[in-house]
Amino acid sequence: MALTRTVAVLGCGPSGTATAITMTHAGLDVILIDPDRAPDWEPGEGLPAVAAGALRTLGVWPAFQTAGHLRSSGFLSCWGSDEPAFRSAMLDPRGPSWQLDRARFVRMLRTAAGSPAARRLTGARRDGSVWTMSFADDNPPITVDFVVDATGRGSVLARLLNVHRRVDSRLVGIAAVLANPDPADAANLLEAVPYGWWYVSRVPGDRLVVALFTDASIAGRDRLTALESWTLMLGATRRAGRRAGWPRLRMLSALHTAASGSSALERFAGPGWLAVGDAACAHDPLSARGLHDALTGGIAAGEAIAGGSIDDYASDVAAGYHRYLTELDWYYRQETRFPGTPFWTARQSQS
Ligand SMILES: Cc1cc2nc3c(=O)[nH]c(=O)nc-3n(C[C@H](O)[C@H](O)[C@H](O)COP(=O)(O)OP(=O)(O)OC[C@H]3O[C@@H](n4cnc5c(N)ncnc54)[C@H](O)[C@@H]3O)c2cc1C
Repeated sequence: MALTRTVAVLGCGPSGTATAITMTHAGLDVILIDPDRAPDWEPGEGLPAVAAGALRTLGVWPAFQTAGHLRSSGFLSCWGSDEPAFRSAMLDPRGPSWQLDRARFVRMLRTAAGSPAARRLTGARRDGSVWTMSFADDNPPITVDFVVDATGRGSVLARLLNVHRRVDSRLVGIAAVLANPDPADAANLLEAVPYGWWYVSRVPGDRLVVALFTDASIAGRDRLTALESWTLMLGATRRAGRRAGWPRLRMLSALHTAASGSSALERFAGPGWLAVGDAACAHDPLSARGLHDALTGGIAAGEAIAGGSIDDYASDVAAGYHRYLTELDWYYRQETRFPGTPFWTARQSQS
């Protein structure tokens, strides 16, 4: 059946759902599309307290507050010096950040946005001002007037349209969920090592996400995506291994490797389409801003489509990504403990 005067949102993660909710509030017809696979891994994401504003705007703040996400007390940072520094959440006037249960968070947003059609986009063609979208598994095509690419780092629509994606770093995260040996410890941990950095974060259910972030070339060379080497490296850290319960690690998941570096499309919108969230530009998890940008970017995208300026939206995304790269470089340059090692040298050459 042909559908007209509608907007298709491809991808129902945080950015796609935020875009859809905003457009629905503005009275547009929205079709949500996502293969809707159950998430197969847990990134251990932190959501800064400032995101409460976006959650209120989207009308999900009451549901969020009662969903059982954890509050962090701050984090222990072993980054620029041998002495660990505790950065208390009390120092942030907006309060502590949240440690999310990812599946629960996305479920909440999808409940507010409406159920997506369980489809995976395979083709998109625009004739005049009408898009025809085609899907895998013999799902019938649909026609729409505007398309939002919210498909994450894969930026599926932009790729079909041959929009180039600039890759600014080849960081990968190699992560697993473990039983938390000390659930009363509400702090997260960040530890720099010669080959990258480790992040240990609490997630609901007395679990920890333990993640190693390194350059893809180092991960390949040192076989860091293999459980044996990952575990050995974790055991050799000063603090991360101890926090995770090494040597008696209780693994609750397999290792999962995810692209985690900075990348962005060369343009964020075109005739009849725009990209939002990670599909537009993806951030290094060190910045802890992917989710907040996905939510606020979704709201801005929805407002632009509902009558604002798509050009202004695209310029704001470009300016935001540029600012982010500058801030990220500053943060990595604080590292002085491992000069000349491949990871930190690679970071310098990407600056
Ligand atoms: C290891 C790691 C740790 C992170 N930690 C943090 C953190 O602590 N704090 C933080 O703020 N951010 C963090 N992030 C970033 C954060 O996860 C992302 O920025 C955020 O999920 C982006 O949301 P999104 O909706 O744009 O994309 P996604 O969440 O990637 O959602 C994309 C959606 O598109 C769908 N899709 C894919 N292909 C198709 C297709 N062909 N057709 C239709 N739909 C499709 C997918 O099923 C998915 O539902 C982390 C990321 C990683 C990798």
